[in-house]
Amino acid sequence: MSSKVVNESSMFYMDFCPNCSNILHLDEYMGEVRHKCQVCPYFSPIKNVTLASRSFYKLKEIDSVLGGKAAWENVDSIDVVCNSCNHGRAYFLQVQTRSADEPMTVFYKCCNCGNRWRE
Ligand SMILES: [Zn+2]
Ligand SMILES: [Zn+2]
Repeated sequence: MSSKVVNESSMFYMDFCPNCSNILHLDEYMGEVRHKCQVCPYFSPIKNVTLASRSFYKLKEIDSVLGGKAAWENVDSIDVVCNSCNHGRAYFLQVQTRSADEPMTVFYKCCNCGNRWRE
C-alpha cells in the first residue's frame, strides 16, 4: 500500500478560498484530489489522498452527490416519510459510491422541506 489515508476527522474541516472567501469544494483533476473554489480559479491540492481512498469517496458522497446542483434534477420520488416534517414523499437517488461489488447507497430528499438523508 503506497497510498495513505488521512485521518477522517481532519478531512471534514471546511476550507475557504483566500481570494473570495467562498467554501472550497472537493474536486478531482488528473487523478489528484484538491479543494477548488467554485467562483474563482483558486485551488489547493490535498496531499496523501488518492481516488481509491474510501475517505475520499465518503467526502464525494456528501460534497458532490448531496450538494451538487444537478444531482436532484429529474429524479423519481417515492413514498417515504420524512423524519423532519413527516411529509410522505421524497425524491430518491441511487449512487454507486464505492467498489462495484458493494450495494448502491440510496439518498432521499424530502419533497416538502428538502431534508436529506441516506438509507
Ligand atoms: Zn475563490
Ligand atoms: Zn420533510
